[in-house]
Amino acid sequence: MQDKEYLMIPGPTPVPPSVMNAMARPMFGHRSEEFAEMHKNIIGKLQKVFQTTNDIFVLTNSGTGSMETAVANTVSPGDKVLTLVGGKFGERWSELATAYKGEVIQEDFEWGTPVDLNKVEEVLKANPDIKVVFATFNETSTGVVNDIEGLGKIVAKTPALLVVDGVSGAGGIEIKTDEWNVDIQVTGSQKALMLPPGLGVISVSSKAWNKIENNSSPRYYFNLIKARKSMEKWNTAFTPAVSLFVGLNAALDIMLDEGMDNVYARHKLLRDATRAAVRALGLKLMTEDFCASPVITSVYAPEGVGSDDIRKVLKQEYGITFAGGQAKLKNKIFRIAHMGFADKMDVLLAISGLEMALDKVGYPVELGKGVKAAQEVFLGRYK
Ligand code: PMP
Repeated sequence: MQDKEYLMIPGPTPVPPSVMNAMARPMFGHRSEEFAEMHKNIIGKLQKVFQTTNDIFVLTNSGTGSMETAVANTVSPGDKVLTLVGGKFGERWSELATAYKGEVIQEDFEWGTPVDLNKVEEVLKANPDIKVVFATFNETSTGVVNDIEGLGKIVAKTPALLVVDGVSGAGGIEIKTDEWNVDIQVTGSQKALMLPPGLGVISVSSKAWNKIENNSSPRYYFNLIKARKSMEKWNTAFTPAVSLFVGLNAALDIMLDEGMDNVYARHKLLRDATRAAVRALGLKLMTEDFCASPVITSVYAPEGVGSDDIRKVLKQEYGITFAGGQAKLKNKIFRIAHMGFADKMDVLLAISGLEMALDKVGYPVELGKGVKAAQEVFLGRYK
C-alpha cells in the first residue's frame, strides 16, 4: 500500500479535497474578465476574514515574500524600526529590516513567552522617531500568540506603523485588523488558509500608504504601488499563480460557510484537547495557557530523549509528521499543528501515535491516557 500521510506541521497543511478539485480546472488567462471577477470576490472574502476595509493584495510568493513586501515598502535606508522577537519568525523581521538598511532596535522576549507590552511602550517613548514596529501574531517556532490588540493600542498613539506577521495565525486565530489598528498584516497560503504554498496576502491601511508613497527603498516585484495600480482593474502587476487563486476562492468559501467564529472555536478546542493530552502524558508544554496558540502546540521531549527521535518513529512507523524544534530548540521540542483543515480525529490520531512513539523510545507511558484526556475535552468532561 502507498504510505498514508498524516501531515501535522505548521505548513504546508492538508488541503481539503474540494479545494484540490477546484484547482484542477483548466487554466485561464489572468487578464480575462473571469479572473478579474474572481479576484474581486477573493478580496471581498479576505476583507471579511481579516475584519478589515483596508486594501488587500494577494501576492504570488511565500509568506516571507509577503514579509519582504512589507519591509521593502515601509523601511527606507536609515529608518529606525522596532522588531519584537520571541522566536525564529520575529528574528526574520530583524533580518529583513537590516537587509533594507533600517536601523533596527530589536527587543527580545524569552522564547515561549509573549511580547511584554510595557517594554514596547517604554522603547517607543524613548525612541519617538521609530517609524515601524514589526510583530508576530502567532510565533510558529514556539506556539505563542502575541497580544496584537494591546500592541495596536500602544502603537496607534505614535506615528509608527504596526506591521504584523500573521502568516501562521490569520485564518485560524481571530484577527481584527481594523479594530486593533494593524497597519499591515501579512500571511501565506499554506497554513490556516488551507492551500498549497505559493500565495501571500497583505493588507494595507491608509496610515501605511502615506509611508509607502514616500518610501525610498528599491523595489520591483514587491512594489505595492504597482500592485495598487493594477488592482484598479482587478488585475495583478505580474502573472499570478492562477490555480492558487482559484483554490483560495474555494478555501475562503469553506471558511465563511463554516463561519469564522466556528473556525476560531474549532481551533481553540483542538488546542485545548492537545494540551490536555500532553499534560496527561506527563510531558511539558512550552507555553502557558494564556498565550497558547490555537493552531500549534509545542511540547518538550522528555528528559534524555531527543524530540527528533520521537518524530522519526512517528514518521517511519505511523506516517505522522510533527514539526521539530527550530534553531536553539532543535531536538528539544516537537510541534503538533492543528491548523486549517484539522478536526478532532486529527488530534486523537496525533496523540495516539505520540503515545506509541513515546513507548518505543523508552518513555513510560500509560497507553490511551493522552487520548482519553483529549476525548474528555471533546465530550466536555475534562476537569
Ligand atoms: N512567519 C511565520 C509566523 C511562519 O510560520 C512562517 C512559515 N513557517 C513564515 C513567516 C515564513 O513563511 P514562508 O516559509 O512561506 O516563506
